[in-house]
Amino acid sequence: MEYEPVIGLEVHVQLKTRTKVFCGCSTEYGASPNTQVCPVCLGFPGVLPVLNCLALEYSIKVGLALNCTVQEFTKFDRKHYYYPDLPKNLQISQYDLPISKDGFLEVTVDGKSRKVKIRRAHLEEDAGKLIHEDNFSLVDFNRTGQPLLEIVTEPDIFSPEEAYEYLTNLKSIIQYLEVSDCDMEKGTLRCDANISVRPKGQTGLGTKSEIKNLNSFKAVRDSLVYEIERHIETINNGEKIVQETRLWDDKKGRTVSMRSKEEAKDYRYFPEPDLPPFIISKEKIEGIKKTIPELPKEKILRFMREYGLPEYDTKILVSTKENADYAEKRLKAFPDKDKKPVANWIIGPLASIAANLKCEIYQIKIPANNFIELINLVEKKQVISNLTGKAVLEKMAGMPEKSAAKIIEEENLAQVSDEASLEKEIDAVIKTNPKVAEDVKSGKTNSIMFLVGQVMKKTRGKANPKVVQEILKRRLV
Ligand code: ADP
Ligand code: MG
Ligand code: ZN
Repeated sequence: MEYEPVIGLEVHVQLKTRTKVFCGCSTEYGASPNTQVCPVCLGFPGVLPVLNCLALEYSIKVGLALNCTVQEFTKFDRKHYYYPDLPKNLQISQYDLPISKDGFLEVTVDGKSRKVKIRRAHLEEDAGKLIHEDNFSLVDFNRTGQPLLEIVTEPDIFSPEEAYEYLTNLKSIIQYLEVSDCDMEKGTLRCDANISVRPKGQTGLGTKSEIKNLNSFKAVRDSLVYEIERHIETINNGEKIVQETRLWDDKKGRTVSMRSKEEAKDYRYFPEPDLPPFIISKEKIEGIKKTIPELPKEKILRFMREYGLPEYDTKILVSTKENADYAEKRLKAFPDKDKKPVANWIIGPLASIAANLKCEIYQIKIPANNFIELINLVEKKQVISNLTGKAVLEKMAGMPEKSAAKIIEEENLAQVSDEASLEKEIDAVIKTNPKVAEDVKSGKTNSIMFLVGQVMKKTRGKANPKVVQEILKRRLV
């Protein structure tokens, strides 16, 4: 029998507010343990939580960007459980009236687009952090009470690739909204994956397992591939899948059971008595809607339309808002109608320089006009070769105020197209590669590129390869 996977994702995003969600404690990252705490977030008796309005606004903003219905009446509930990182023994969360519900996010896999249904997005407070040593554990309550938005999909994702794509798009949207850093390494984005399989064509749901301990989008994808196989194998062996929580072991590339036979959890949810329900007016929602910037998907379409760029290039250019703004400034500054060279130079050489420097593209401070000048010198005026152009770009990254022309002049890098001076180099290359020269003469014209390469090498990339090729053809063919 053929099986298909069914996946649902639960994503926690830490909202970038200056203070915690129900008290005035700082949310700054990296402070000494237990220095950003107060009676409210530590759950002392008799204290009262006060909602951070910015956290509420950010939540609404995300809900709107995810095409959700933002509820005009929302309330908070207490979710009870006992764990050392939870000093109150309860978490303020939302149960039946989340801030937003019934949205979707579009994903494209193999050129096909689908809308993944989002069930809800609700606001809650984070727990503390446990630090496990060899034979004891420590607890840091600085994170306790930081605002978290939990975004839950329907079981409406049908491959690990689609899950990966969903997460990538979700992160990109939330970063565009500037409400969270969405950095999995810092824990400002966390994800649990639920997965089951069912006979292909069937509509019911199989028994699921929940995967935790996922620390990258790649880990989500890999763990899902692993789990799908495990589910199918188990069923094919005539055994039953047990509903359980499993932990992903990234090093070993497998999941292990953490809590088997999860009992129906009883969190004893009830309305938080210390917070009133919140009524969010239509005007308020409309006002927040107006602050939503152009989102990645619209930007991709606009870049394709306005600059005539392929989708592939555009997707890379708009990966973050900063990179998109950076690219657009350069696309606009380029006078030609055909903007492809600009895209090529950004996603090619510039991106690899950024990768080497371990920074983002937009952090390379080469002014737009200098960047455009370099592209012109290579692509149109052919003052320097492509290869030299890349070397010049690298130099510009180190001294962004210096123009390309200046660097070319100072380092004497201008391309040599003058035939007389090239003849000498070509003679030498033919002399040291007699066999290849013979091959070309006897009809293996492809070997000519080898000789061109040798001339380029001898001239440190300065020879004009087109002219070199012409001279060689004249001599040998
Ligand atoms: P739980 O009570 O275990 O948290 P929920 O019904 O709240 O389960 O769903 C949690 C997540 O698991 C959601 O993203 C949902 O889409 C997903 N999910 C629920 N049932 C299944 C299933 N049978 N297969 C795959 N995913 C599922
Ligand atoms: Mg759940
Ligand atoms: Zn506090």
